[in-house]
Amino acid sequence: MAGSKCIALIAHDQKKDAMAEFARRNAAALTGWHIVATGTTGGRVLDVAPDLKVTRMKSGPLGGDQQIGALIATGEIDMLIFFIDPLTPLPHDVDVKALTRLAVLYDIPMALNESTAERLIKTLNH
Ligand code: PGA
Repeated sequence: MAGSKCIALIAHDQKKDAMAEFARRNAAALTGWHIVATGTTGGRVLDVAPDLKVTRMKSGPLGGDQQIGALIATGEIDMLIFFIDPLTPLPHDVDVKALTRLAVLYDIPMALNESTAERLIKTLNH
């Protein structure tokens, strides 16, 4: 990941269609960025934008959120876009909390919903 700027993309199950659409819509802006994603989210992003550089971590419930949190702690993530499902109880809720806490701690630009993500992604190449 050295060299290029890195953006993390994660979407909970009920938000994966929205993330795929977001990635498709913003594929041009994401070109040239390194994308790190949780496993299933990364697969969905690659389905719609196969030319993007995507590193897939483990699936979120299996530790993917924690892997991305560790990358934030080591300074390797420049932006986090995380489409959270506010209506469904999740087995890895503590991991979600830990990840968003680290993004706040390390002052990473973070979007937790689509309207914020749309605004944030417009700043990518400026
Ligand atoms: P997934 O993980 O992309 O592997 O589904 C996301 C999550 O639920 O945290």
